[in-house]
Amino acid sequence: MQVESISTRLVSLPMSQPYTSSVGWTIGAVGHVMVEARTSEGHIGIGYARSLHNGKLPAIRAAIEDVKRLAIGEDPFAVIRIWREMMANNYWFGPGGLINFAISAIDIALWDLLGQVTGKPLYVLLGGGRQRVPCYYTGFRRSTPADHLGMEAAMLRTQGLTAFKIKVGGEDSLDKEIERVRAVREAIGDDMALMVDPNRAWSADVTIEMGARMEPYNLRWLEDPIPYEDMEGRTRVAACLEVPIASGEDMYTGSQFRDLAEHKAADIFNVDLQRVGGISGWLDVTSFLEGRNLPYAGHWFSEIQCHLFATTEKGLTLEYMPWHFGLHKKKPRIVNGLMELPQGPGIGWEIDEELVKRYEIG
Ligand SMILES: [Mg+2]
Repeated sequence: MQVESISTRLVSLPMSQPYTSSVGWTIGAVGHVMVEARTSEGHIGIGYARSLHNGKLPAIRAAIEDVKRLAIGEDPFAVIRIWREMMANNYWFGPGGLINFAISAIDIALWDLLGQVTGKPLYVLLGGGRQRVPCYYTGFRRSTPADHLGMEAAMLRTQGLTAFKIKVGGEDSLDKEIERVRAVREAIGDDMALMVDPNRAWSADVTIEMGARMEPYNLRWLEDPIPYEDMEGRTRVAACLEVPIASGEDMYTGSQFRDLAEHKAADIFNVDLQRVGGISGWLDVTSFLEGRNLPYAGHWFSEIQCHLFATTEKGLTLEYMPWHFGLHKKKPRIVNGLMELPQGPGIGWEIDEELVKRYEIG
């Protein structure tokens, strides 16, 4: 059996409500470069890269069209060897960056393909033993006023969720930021987990002040409070504050995670599936974290990372955002804070082809 062809489509899925990102973009749609890998026997695996910026989709597609030659003609069961080849071949352009998005999309398609060939869900292929994995909800956007946050939390509590992450960093005073945290904590009660993510909006000094002010709200973690480039500040913040610091969603390589660990700049390591180069890259990075007893969480892509978390020991929880699932026919069931894994072959949520056709842009 060999990979006979790999083709791409661009899909722009509109969001029900536009979103303002941490860097000020207004996002009305989630862009995807869909990858279809087909074997000589007619099996099809589907992967994708995702972007909050549709303008980058043609560049990701061009990278996929270049990198795919390293997979075509190969046995898809050699997926990890193919992944190493793709990473090594493109080292000159990185390591990391947009090329990892391209490699990730191909790698996801190949793993999905193995599921289609064997008829097994991805978590079974990977040797995972769990059928439910912990997840938390990210919402509470900066554009949502503080006095609406409580209503959002109350509605979400009815959906089986037990852990929530809110966005801060957009208010014009620190008192207003604290008000957002207080509103959600009061609405969810003391028995639910609460995380706070300023998306690098604060300085180290502000973070140390805010960490102390947020202590009464018993945060599970504070995520990426300050810019990545300030490693000294990140180390100082992690040393000064009791609240665990989560970081890593912008990391591409195992050595970047190692630096984070060696500088003691994070307590919880946040792994982004496509930045680390897909499922094979995720296995590579998390084997480093598992081996050093370092707890980690999943950033974005919960519909794929849920399979990976079925295999973990130190994996804490996945980031669930409902618009992850826009492409898929099946939606997850969350019971008591646990996401139930799909039982179909491969990724298992089934791509909604009608929807993909409707929103295809190239
Ligand atoms: Mg974040």
